[in-house]
This record gives sequence, C-alpha cells and structure tokens, in this order.
Amino acid sequence: MHKSFGDLEVLRGIDLTLRPGSVTAILGPSGSGKSTLLRTINHLEPVGRGLISVDGEVIGYRRDGDLLHELPEREVLQQRTTIGMVFQAFNLFGHMTALQNVAEAPRRALGTPRRRAEARARELLELVGLAEKAGAYPRQLSGGQQQRVAIARALALDPTVLLFDEPTSALDPELVEEVLAVIRSLARAGTTLVIVTHEVSFARDVADTVVFMDHGVIVEQGPPAQVIDHPAQERTRTFLQRVR
Ligand code: ATP
Ligand code: MG
Repeated sequence: MHKSFGDLEVLRGIDLTLRPGSVTAILGPSGSGKSTLLRTINHLEPVGRGLISVDGEVIGYRRDGDLLHELPEREVLQQRTTIGMVFQAFNLFGHMTALQNVAEAPRRALGTPRRRAEARARELLELVGLAEKAGAYPRQLSGGQQQRVAIARALALDPTVLLFDEPTSALDPELVEEVLAVIRSLARAGTTLVIVTHEVSFARDVADTVVFMDHGVIVEQGPPAQVIDHPAQERTRTFLQRVR
C-alpha cells in the first residue's frame, strides 16, 4: 500500500500479512506512518494505491473473476465491521452509558435488535471487567475504564481483526496495566490483533510478530526475540536504544 497527503508520501509500499489469531506489534518513531497505516487498513482514510483484504474479501470491492467492482458505501460500511479499531483517546459517546456505547454500533451498522445488542454488550462489559459499570456515563469512569469500554465497543461488531493505536498512551501510569491485561486476554483467546505501541516490553510479551516502521516503510519484521532483542537493521537498533 502507498498513501500520500498532498506531496507527502506517508506510506511508501507497505506489504503486511496477518495470520488468523496472530498478534502484531508495530513500533516506530513519531511520524513514521503507524497511525496512517491503521487508519487506512480500517478505511478511515481512503487507501491511496493498494488493497486491503480480509479472509479473501477485498474491502470496498466485489470480486468477479479477476475484476474488482466498487461497492456502494452502505456495503463498504458492513465490510468494514470486520476491522475493529481502538483509539488512543477512547472516543466514547459522552451522552451514552457504557452499555449504550457498546450496543450502539451493532444496532447501527448491522441492524441488530436492541435487546440482542444490549445482551451482548453486557457480556462484553463483563469480559473487560466492567459489568457493574454498565449504567455509568464516560465522565463517571476512569481513563482505564473508558478505554476498556472502548475495547468492548470494538468487539461488539465481532471483528476479524482488531487494531489498537497506542491504547495506553493517554492513560495515567497506574491505569496502563488494567488495559494491557485486557489486551493480553484477547491475545490469549486467539483474537487477531495489531497494536501500535511505545511499550516495548509489552510488545515483546504479547506479540508473535514485531514490525518496525520508519519513514513509511517496514524496516524489519519478525518474532520479538529477533526484532527487539537482536535487530538486524541499524535504524531499529537506534530506535530501540532511544526508547529504552
Ligand atoms: P506518532 O508516533 O507520533 O503517533 P505516527 O507514526 O502514527 O506518529 P502518522 O500519524 O501516521 O505517524 O503520520 C505520518 C505522517 O503523515 C506525518 O508526517 C504526519 O504529519 C502526516 N499526516 C498524518 N495525517 C495527515 C493528514 N490527515 N494530513 C496531512 N498529513 C498527515
Ligand atoms: Mg500515531
């Protein structure tokens, strides 16, 4: 994939394959294109040149032999529910309770009936350890709790892959661990995850593949024991020395 903003080419030929059930951590300096990569995978940003496919389905298109036909927006929105995203800044709806935040997306995107969406939302709040906060509004929750609601909300659409963009970097240090624990439990349960993070030790812990990006390209990728502990590239070594 290639992606430019005006004259600035931010993604300069990214080729990434995620195996089902794998956990991929993306590391890289500020401005290297990590958020842009996640946003284009999720189609929050139009893809420049390239394609995203999930389970053989190309997002935005219908396959017809070798031909791809563009799909109408309504269908693209449905396809996009296969790709979930959790942001640095939670982005919960402030006028909705935790339960409503989690139940809203399936109702809107998939037309799930309210009772079913809310029953599933309760299960998901329990999964992230917030069953007793179902009726709370975002302003009544800590940052860590809000982020766990945001994770439950992303899971409500049963995504094939879940993308995290620095999910703990807006949190006070003492709230980081509760969010990382939820992500770890998703990883153990076999959810396919992509996590942009500055937490190198967390990446080593949870990821089976670490991708190091710089200037819009993947500099190297491999298991943490290779990329984090024995990086092959000078740029990776320099970055890791700086962040540790
Ligand atoms: P950080 O670690 O600071 O979050 P990042 O690796 O996520 O950085 P991106 O946010 O993807 O980096 O930005 C990559 C480059 O693209 C930067 O130079 C940024 O200024 C530019 N950029 C990102 N979004 C836009 C936009 N909507 N319009 C123009 N330029 C953009
Ligand atoms: Mg970013």
